[in-house]
Amino acid sequence: MNEDLRKNIRQIAPYTAGERPDRPGIVKLNTNENPYPPSPGVIEAFRSLAPEDFRLYPDAESTDFRRAAAKFYGLAENQVFPANGSDDALALIFLTFFNSGKPVLFPDVTYSFYPVWSRFFGVPFETAPLDADFRINPSDYSRENGGVVLANPNAPTGVALGPDEIRYILDKNPGVIVALDEAYIDFGGISAVPLLREYDNLIIVHTFSKYRSLAGMRLACALGSAELIACLGAAKNSYNSYPISRAGQCIAAAAFADDAYYRACAARIALTREKFVGDMAKLGFRTLPSAANFVFTAHEKMKAKEIFLYLKEKDIYVRHWDLPRIGNHLRITVGTEEQMEKVVTTIKEFPEVNKNHHRKIGAKTHE
Ligand code: PMP
Repeated sequence: MNEDLRKNIRQIAPYTAGERPDRPGIVKLNTNENPYPPSPGVIEAFRSLAPEDFRLYPDAESTDFRRAAAKFYGLAENQVFPANGSDDALALIFLTFFNSGKPVLFPDVTYSFYPVWSRFFGVPFETAPLDADFRINPSDYSRENGGVVLANPNAPTGVALGPDEIRYILDKNPGVIVALDEAYIDFGGISAVPLLREYDNLIIVHTFSKYRSLAGMRLACALGSAELIACLGAAKNSYNSYPISRAGQCIAAAAFADDAYYRACAARIALTREKFVGDMAKLGFRTLPSAANFVFTAHEKMKAKEIFLYLKEKDIYVRHWDLPRIGNHLRITVGTEEQMEKVVTTIKEFPEVNKNHHRKIGAKTHE
């Protein structure tokens, strides 16, 4: 590319997603997918698709999807904005609602797409540091700002805010939008959806990628007042009229009907998580209290990067960021019981962990 050409092209530092290795036998615990299949109703909906569903454009308003979501959440149909994954909904939220020129606030440690969208859309931002226990301090969000974005539970920590803390942040910010990214809420958090009746500055994003085992379908919805949802609709229709395929719309509606199935899967994942945290503690790992389908954990002596590389060599993929504050932590998705046992037994065989662990046990016997 010649220099003239290059200087006319915008250079962007994009978000980097977790690796997607595609070999048989891999234990993939790096992008917080659900280890269980989508519900029987979803599979049936998928099988019901006809060639016409591929030939024709989808309903631009995703009416069936909206109707099913409205019924599920107890909201009006015009309070639901269907989206092509929550990344789509969140990007439109940054583009549409953070328009004051004042900085948007989010934590220093959170979903790393937030600063990327800020830069991409020219939205100024400031970060508020999590405390020493990686908790969000609600009072950090009471200063003047152009909007607030919080993942609840937060990622990659898994730590959740309670409804009173959310309420406090909403009360302090009546003039700006508070966007709650509840991607992981169904694994142990308390959703702020009931607060939509009281707060017109609240917008909530729910993905189908985690709790509903549909990461490959790219489905999500934003929930808010009819006025906010209409603004997102106008943004969508200025950008991409048909973000959700006919297959996606049909499957989204079916997924809402099968909530008992998904609740059972989430309960199982939460049980697996607690067992895994206990097993890891015995190996010298300290894990933050997680309300999500992943854990954020650090070994008391071993470097996270070394464990990450060792696990990768053994075909177990987890997530590690070489960044200040979190460089010594690993984020590990909670998979099936068997997958988590494999992580534990593999780490047990890591010579360094063994050495440190025995040392610790040895030290204890001297007490
Ligand atoms: N928010 C958070 C906090 C996430 O971790 C993710 C998953 N990477 C997303 C949003 C995006 O999820 P999706 O686009 O698959 O709905």
